[in-house]
Amino acid sequence: MKRSLSGIQPSGILHLGNYFGAMKQFIDAQNSGEYDGFYFIADYHSLTSLTDPKSLKDNTYNIVLDYLALGLDPNKSTIFLQSDVPEHVELSWLLSNVTPVGLLERGHSYKDKIAKGIFPNTGLLTYPVLMAADILMYDADVVPVGKDQKQHLEMTRDIAMKFNQQYGVELFKLPEPLILDDSAVVPGIDGQKMSKSYGNTINMFASKKELKKQIMSIVTDSTPLEEPKDPNNNIAKLYTLFASIEKQNEMKEKFLAGNYGYGHAKAELLDAVLEYFGEARERREKLAQDMDYIHTVLFEGGKKARAIAQEKIMKAKEAVGIIGNM
Ligand code: ATP
Ligand code: MG
Repeated sequence: MKRSLSGIQPSGILHLGNYFGAMKQFIDAQNSGEYDGFYFIADYHSLTSLTDPKSLKDNTYNIVLDYLALGLDPNKSTIFLQSDVPEHVELSWLLSNVTPVGLLERGHSYKDKIAKGIFPNTGLLTYPVLMAADILMYDADVVPVGKDQKQHLEMTRDIAMKFNQQYGVELFKLPEPLILDDSAVVPGIDGQKMSKSYGNTINMFASKKELKKQIMSIVTDSTPLEEPKDPNNNIAKLYTLFASIEKQNEMKEKFLAGNYGYGHAKAELLDAVLEYFGEARERREKLAQDMDYIHTVLFEGGKKARAIAQEKIMKAKEAVGIIGNM
């Protein structure tokens, strides 16, 4: 069976981009029965942009609840915290020594985050090396992600090749990204890539009031109500994620005809989001009552992942000439 592996950072509250770009793919892969799935919470990665310990803790629990409410099943997929498998960090050190600084400095995500004012700490620069360790540790065949991670996946492949070549081993498998065209980059309320750390998100598990506020703040132009409008505006783009082709076309026609305001479209989008996530929102409320269960899921997932990681790290140490007595 092919192995699928991916992670999400607890750098904020999960949003439509995380769901359509990544999580929906995890769940579809799981339910197809064709993949052995490993899905983790990249808590070490989130330290590159998040400095508040309480937020990190809360966000971490929230993501586990989101994963389960949206349909990840711990009996079918391995769900764990990155930090529960410390071998990820060990491997990232070994990999960092075959990774040219220039490769990391060319990182789009690194450059974007710095441009947005995130402090350029070393972790932000070496983020892709830890990500390579996450993936290569488990011999993942595929990595379901959004398009923003395409370059990081290419770096993972480069790093794996370089290590294998330098040490004359076939230790690391080259993974393939799984990116869906329709949801490759979900736009945020400002039209840029929706991102936890950019403050432009629509959060599927926000309260109805908050969700309404987020959707109503989607940025539009000032075309008057009566006039025709661009049928591919941000609201229409987000609506495509939820509505049938007929409904999408209806909205586009209304925009083209005029006398259809952005406010109307936002109200339709809000209804569609609430309907789409209705059952998951109910499931999540129930799950949040049983934190013991959440801890058990993480404990069992961490144990399973760690057993694999311990074997792999032994081989990696052996390849580079580290003796290892423990
Ligand atoms: P941060 O701003 O802290 O980087 P993020 O919102 O970009 O957070 P990540 O944890 O970096 O989320 O990414 C988790 C997954 O969600 C990745 O597979 C990423 O490609 C995907 N993803 C994130 N934002 C989007 C988006 N707007 N459209 C599609 N996929 C996305
Ligand atoms: Mg990101």
